[in-house]
Amino acid sequence: MINITLPDGAVKQVEPGSTPLDVAKSISEGLARNVISAKFNDSIVESSTPLETDGALTLYTWNNDEGKKAFWHSSSHVIAQALEELYPGIKLTIGPAIENGFYYDVDFGEHTISEKDFPTIEKKALEIARGKHDFKMREVSKVDALAYYKKQNNTYKVELIDNLTDGEITFCDHSSFTDLCRGGHIPNTGIIKAIKILSVAGAYWRGDENNKQLTRVYGISFPKQKELTAYLELLEEAKKRDHRKLGKELELFTFSQKVGQGLPLWLPKGAALRERLEDFLKKAQKKAGYEMVVTPHIGQKELYVTSGHYAKYGEDSFQPIHTPKQDEEFLLKPMNCPHHCEIYNTSPFSYKDLPKRYAEFGTVYRYEQSGELHGLTRVRGFTQDDAHIFCTPDQLNSEFKNVIDLSLYVLGSLGFDNFTAQVSVRDLEKPEKYIGSVENWEKAEQAIIDAAEEKGLNYVVESGEAAFYGPKLDFMVKDALGRNWQLGTIQVDYNLPERFDLTYKGSDNELHRPVMIHRAPFGSLERFVALLLEHTGGNFPLWLIPQQAIVLPVSEKHEKYAEKVLNSLENHEIRALIDSRNETVGKKIREAELKKIPFMLIVGENEEAAETISVRKHGGDDLGSLNVDQFSDLVSKEINSTLKSF
Ligand SMILES: [Zn+2]
Ligand SMILES: [Zn+2]
Repeated sequence: MINITLPDGAVKQVEPGSTPLDVAKSISEGLARNVISAKFNDSIVESSTPLETDGALTLYTWNNDEGKKAFWHSSSHVIAQALEELYPGIKLTIGPAIENGFYYDVDFGEHTISEKDFPTIEKKALEIARGKHDFKMREVSKVDALAYYKKQNNTYKVELIDNLTDGEITFCDHSSFTDLCRGGHIPNTGIIKAIKILSVAGAYWRGDENNKQLTRVYGISFPKQKELTAYLELLEEAKKRDHRKLGKELELFTFSQKVGQGLPLWLPKGAALRERLEDFLKKAQKKAGYEMVVTPHIGQKELYVTSGHYAKYGEDSFQPIHTPKQDEEFLLKPMNCPHHCEIYNTSPFSYKDLPKRYAEFGTVYRYEQSGELHGLTRVRGFTQDDAHIFCTPDQLNSEFKNVIDLSLYVLGSLGFDNFTAQVSVRDLEKPEKYIGSVENWEKAEQAIIDAAEEKGLNYVVESGEAAFYGPKLDFMVKDALGRNWQLGTIQVDYNLPERFDLTYKGSDNELHRPVMIHRAPFGSLERFVALLLEHTGGNFPLWLIPQQAIVLPVSEKHEKYAEKVLNSLENHEIRALIDSRNETVGKKIREAELKKIPFMLIVGENEEAAETISVRKHGGDDLGSLNVDQFSDLVSKEINSTLKSF
């Protein structure tokens, strides 16, 4: 018998050669019905893989990310088969699962496909799926694998196999279809009940623009038709909330080919929004003991050689700028950290001076391939709400708690109430991967976990997810459409203090290394505004929205009174404008609705006589006639309900 350890620590004794599915059956029939994939020790296996040794087994269902991955990866095989049958002679390359669904990169040769072909492909794929074909893995020798694809003239697969080691090459068969594959499938195609091609796009072979352009076929599949329907509805809603669309409608930002791709231009309303976000955070940071610093947009190449960024990213980033005479080399600033280290280094500190907390809204530049650029979420220039805290190892716990408080304040004030935290720690079995002393790592990991615990965070600990230079805590935020975003990383760093030779004098009069914490609650203003737009659909919290109210005079006659109202609103610090165009009130209301202005203040005969305004809320609620003081109280109340004091 062999011993199979389950995630809860329970040990099952089974015959050698038993499969994960057998183990599931020994637990319950219900589980066995739902198991679609498994992990044995550190590798993903099929639910039909015979287990021959003792080991740790995790069973996956559709409800696990790994289960979905197996489901979607298997679906990509089915789509590939459908494509091959419909378009003979095409060349398949790679087809992995992605976060939502899968893709397959295909060289279609003389064929082209477009949206009108999708239903035919989907129909064919479903037909194949209904055949309930088992996915079967088999080992192949390198010679045989190469021969198989050379016969098909498939140079892509040949290139892939050339880079594999003989003895580690496997094929996956189902129905009459064979593909080069490492494994990780669902038991059979019959589990796939709904399949949809989402889009096609160009993609270079191996992501290299010097290579041939292939067609990337994106798809998704589900175990139930109604899950697909729900997903497509969500996609529709996401389209409506696309930050690129809303950003244009709300006149927040734009891009210009002349300025350059991936370089956002903030329009006046967007700039005002940013300013408000910055002020909001600056105010809270000041209370939390941060000091603002300002550093330049470029730095000497040497600075990033010292920090290690040059060795890591130099080749794939914007290339150095050369000065005309002495040929000095400068780089566009990819991160603010090295600059802040040099600020720390300007004066000697004792342990009594720490922590030092330097904050900067620092704009950084990173090269992204043009195909990777996406609205405000993937850009080439962006502003981080960056700060670096330099402290003693003993101060880590309290500094972490402070940063968690600040992050929770930011999330709460902006309407993100659905989030979890992930604490990323070392892989204890691979100590060689990490720099810094074991003692410091233990201290830091414990400090983070204690802080998360003391702050009552809903958190998980992920071992092996820490960076080589230190453990971290990330907030994972769920937006209104249920999508996950990583927001507000808090990262411990033992590396940069070493590289920049940062020191402080301890109580023992000796020099010690401070610990550095990188943190950015928004991440970057660009990505944050994008997320906020998609989360709120453009209905920003009242304290943040560029225009809180619009005064709508019923006719020209009431324009004077409208101006008086506006004046009075300004005195109450309410951000408002007048729509004095010669249009009907009905039309003005419709446009104000589209612009998502929270309050429409209608002024006509009666209002002017009574010195009031008729208040209509975005979405249609009629709040009746109020005077400006009453309206101002209402606005303050609503603001105070989301924007708590820090
Ligand atoms: Zn596969
Ligand atoms: Zn940093």
